[in-house]
Amino acid sequence: MIGHPDRGVGRVRALPAVPSDTTLSLRAGEWATGGNVVGVTQVDVRTVRVGGSPEGVAGWVWVRGHNLECRWPWVACAREWCVRVAVRAEALYDALAR
Ligand SMILES: [Zn+2]
Repeated sequence: MIGHPDRGVGRVRALPAVPSDTTLSLRAGEWATGGNVVGVTQVDVRTVRVGGSPEGVAGWVWVRGHNLECRWPWVACAREWCVRVAVRAEALYDALAR
């Protein structure tokens, strides 16, 4: 049996690798804005880059990406990424499993 990942006090569990172009459906309470306002709706983000933690907030990770609408030709989002949300590390596992 595989042992449980170390969850010692003050340690952050290793994050799952999230490939770019992964659609994460994040539910209310699983994500927050950069201003630490926890989201109250579901948000779908097509990932560009996942990594790094908001300053002083352990257990959360930045997810940068695009709205799903950015793929629509009339939106034509040309930015590298246009959405940045902080996501609970635990929720990242759940979102990847959905
Ligand atoms: Zn975009």
